[in-house]
Amino acid sequence: MIPANFDYIAANSLDEALSLLAKHKDDAKLLAGGHSLLPAMKLRLAQPKVLIDIGRIKDLSYIREEGGQIRIGATTTHFQIETSDLLRRACPLFPETATHLGDMQVRNKGTIGGSLAHSDPAADWPAAVIAVSAEMVVAGAKGERVIKADDFFVDLLTTALQANEVLKEIRFAAPKGRTAQSYMKVRHPASGFAVVGVAVNLSLDGAKSQSAGVGITGVAPKAYRAKGVESALKGNTLDAKNLSTAASHAADGVSNAITELFATGEYRKHLAEVYTRRALETAVSRAK
Ligand SMILES: Cc1cc2nc3c(=O)[nH]c(=O)nc-3n(C[C@H](O)[C@H](O)[C@H](O)COP(=O)(O)OP(=O)(O)OC[C@H]3O[C@@H](n4cnc5c(N)ncnc54)[C@H](O)[C@@H]3O)c2cc1C
Repeated sequence: MIPANFDYIAANSLDEALSLLAKHKDDAKLLAGGHSLLPAMKLRLAQPKVLIDIGRIKDLSYIREEGGQIRIGATTTHFQIETSDLLRRACPLFPETATHLGDMQVRNKGTIGGSLAHSDPAADWPAAVIAVSAEMVVAGAKGERVIKADDFFVDLLTTALQANEVLKEIRFAAPKGRTAQSYMKVRHPASGFAVVGVAVNLSLDGAKSQSAGVGITGVAPKAYRAKGVESALKGNTLDAKNLSTAASHAADGVSNAITELFATGEYRKHLAEVYTRRALETAVSRAK
C-alpha cells in the first residue's frame, strides 16, 4: 500500500500544466482530487514518475450559467456541485448525482473532471453527463477541442482524452421549460460505487415527453446512452404503462455487461430496467 517514488509539481495555471505534460510526456500523470489516482498508485497499478497537481488551479474550479449554458470547471469538487444553488435551480440532476458519490471525504476532494477522465465503469458522473448531452472542453498543445459525452467514454478506464490533454470544462444547455430529472443508483454495499446508476433528464410538453436523455452506468465497461428508452418516451404520455415499456429497453444492445463476484451481467441488465423505471417515475413525480 505504498506508492512507488514520484516527483510532485503543483501547476499554477492550465498553460503550466500543459507545458509540464509536454515536458514529462508518458512519465507524468495529472493529479486532481487524488481519490482514484492515489489508490491506484498505492496498489502500484499506476506508477507515474511525476505528478502534476492541477487541483490548485483556481481558474479550473467554477460553476456558471452563461448564454443559456451551464459550465462546470473540471476541478470543481463533488461537494461544490452538491451544494451549488445555481445547479439546484437550473439542473438538480447534478447536485442529486453528487450526493450519491462515496462519502463526505471523497466528495470534498474528488473532482468531476477527475471522475470523468478516470472513466470507472461504476462511476456516477458519466450517466449524468450523458443524460444532459454534455460537451467536454479539452485543452491540449494545439489549443482546445470539444468532445461530446457520447464519444468521450471509449472503454473501461479509457476516454477520448490524449495523454497530453487536460479536461478543462463540462458544459451543457441549461434545461428549459418543464423538466423532470432524477438519478437512481444501486450502491455496491462495500465500495458505494454504482452496481447500476440511471440518470434521467426529461423535457415535458404537457403530460408528454418532448425529449428524453437517459444515461446508464455500472452495467457495461463504459457508461452508455439508453437510446431505446429515449425513443420509446419521445412524444408519448408519461403514464405508468409507457414508463414501464420504455424502461424495458434499458439494456438494449448491451452485449458486454460486466459479470463479477457481486453481480452477473444478466442481473445488472435486470437492475438497469428496474432502476430506469424507478428513475423515470421519480423524475415525472417531480416535474416542474
Ligand atoms: C472510498 C471511495 C469511494 C468512492 N465512491 C465513489 C462513488 O460512489 N461513485 C463515484 O463515481 N466515484 C467514487 N469514488 C471516486 C471519486 O469520485 C474520485 O474523486 C473520482 O473518481 C476521481 O476524481 P479525482 O479528482 O479524485 O481524480 P484523481 O484521482 O486525481 O485522477 C483520476 C484520473 O483522472 C486524471 N485526471 C484528473 N483530472 C483530470 C483532468 N482535468 N484532465 C485530464 N485528466 C485528469 C488523472 O491523471 C487520473 O488518471 C470513490 C473514491 C473513493 C476513494
